[in-house]
This record gives sequence, C-alpha cells and structure tokens, in this order.
Amino acid sequence: MALLEMKNIRKSFGDLEVIKDISLRVDEGEVLSIIGPSGSGKSTMLRCAAMLETIDSGEIWYMGERAAWADGHGGLHYPKKAELKKVRSCFGLVFQNFNLFPHFSVIKNITDAPIHNQKRDRDEVYAEAKELLAKMGLSDKADAYPCQLSGGQCQRVAIARALALNPKILYFDEPTSALDPELTGEVLKVIKSLADLHIAMVIVTHEMNFAREISDHVMFMDKGIVEVEGSAESVFNTDNARMQAFLGKLR
Ligand code: ADP
Ligand code: MG
Repeated sequence: MALLEMKNIRKSFGDLEVIKDISLRVDEGEVLSIIGPSGSGKSTMLRCAAMLETIDSGEIWYMGERAAWADGHGGLHYPKKAELKKVRSCFGLVFQNFNLFPHFSVIKNITDAPIHNQKRDRDEVYAEAKELLAKMGLSDKADAYPCQLSGGQCQRVAIARALALNPKILYFDEPTSALDPELTGEVLKVIKSLADLHIAMVIVTHEMNFAREISDHVMFMDKGIVEVEGSAESVFNTDNARMQAFLGKLR
C-alpha cells in the first residue's frame, strides 16, 4: 500500500500553471527526492501533499484512502476537522527555516504538540523526546533555547519535533539551504540515519550528492512538469538536455 499517492495533480496561481499533471507515489520505507531549478514547482507540490495548498485537479491519497480531490471544474473535496486531523497525523514537515518556537526550550518545542494536540502521556512523551534528542546528537541541549543554538542544531531540533508526532512520512523542503555550508553535513547525516531506519521521506533538495546517495526514486522537475524520473542512478546518468543543463549550472 502506498503511504502517499498524488494522482494527476494540477495547480495554478492566477494564470500561471505551476503543476502540470504530476503524479507520484511513496511506499513504506521509501525515499523520494525532488530536484529541479528554482521556480519549477517543487515546494508547491510538497505544500499540496501537506494540504497547505488546495489542488485544482487530481487526487491525494494517504494510506490507501482518498483524502482530497478536485475535478478541474470547481468540484473540490478537502477533509475537515477530525478527518483533516487524521490526514495531518500521517506526515511531518521540516522546512528551510526551522520555525521553532523561540520562547520554548528545545524539549518543550519537541513535546508540546504530542502532549497538547495528541493528548499523549507527558512522561512517555518526555522520555521519547530525550531519546530523539540523543539520536540527533543533542542530548545536552534539552533546556537550551533556539537562540542559543546553531542553525544546524535548530534544524536537528525541528527534525526531532516532526518525529515526535510519529508520522508515517516526513516532508523536507530544502532542509539545509538556510545553513552555512559547514553545518549542512550534520543535518544531512541525521536525515541519512532516518533513511537507514526506513522512515519514508519526500525531500526537496539542491544537494545532488546527497539525493543521489539517499534516494530510492528521484524526480527532476522543470517548469511544472516531471522531465525525468526513476532510480537515482538512471536520473543522474540521463542524457535529458534539461537535466544536464541543470547539473551543469550547479557545478
Ligand atoms: P520551487 O520550490 O521549485 O522553487 P515553487 O513551488 O515555490 O517552486 O514555485 C513555483 C512557481 O509558483 C513560481 O513561479 C512561484 O513564483 C509561484 N508561486 C508559488 N507560490 C505562490 C503563491 N502563493 N502565489 C503566487 N505564485 C506562487
Ligand atoms: Mg521551493
């Protein structure tokens, strides 16, 4: 069963069609990377998956159930209340800019939603949060505040916070692009360790070596369409001209 399936998604902002009939599927334990030039629609695709944007047409399925759909003629179904809560519990989000609560300590940033939104047992949540911090190499930072941490440490807290909600799948939107180059490695290493634990992920990234190493499947998007997709090896060795031009510019 697919954890996430997006079928024939279209999305416009005004007259600009930014997603032009894209489908994707992520199974349990699978890592999908989305790469491509700035403005190609990668974040929009992720935001549609996370129900932060509505689609104009297509279907979004979570765990074998159709969660949202649009027929392209104004017919639109999006989950509400309890249903939306259930859908949201399937995924965790990690953005470029961490979005930690500045006035909460690290441990409170991680435990707040499991305790207050998921109504889970406080001691159990704290114990799990401490384990997560250890996994992130941040055991000594539980009582620190975000302003006392480096960008790489903040991003690792953000990853721990997402994991504390026990999602089925994690979405990363350029998780290292706000970091100084010397801090990128520590965050990529943590994400790699999650892949090794077979946590399903969709990762939008400009880190090509990382994408190549970590991904079961790679999608190269350009101008709202999927130009090339397949195994990391096949995509990075493609003779597709747009992909070649894209890689050439990064070098
Ligand atoms: P990427 O993440 O690949 O850089 P985005 O998905 O952010 O691309 O953006 C794709 C296109 O959609 C861009 O032209 C961008 O300007 C436009 N866009 C994104 N979000 C909005 C929005 N909320 N309103 C209008 N245009 C948007
Ligand atoms: Mg983006």
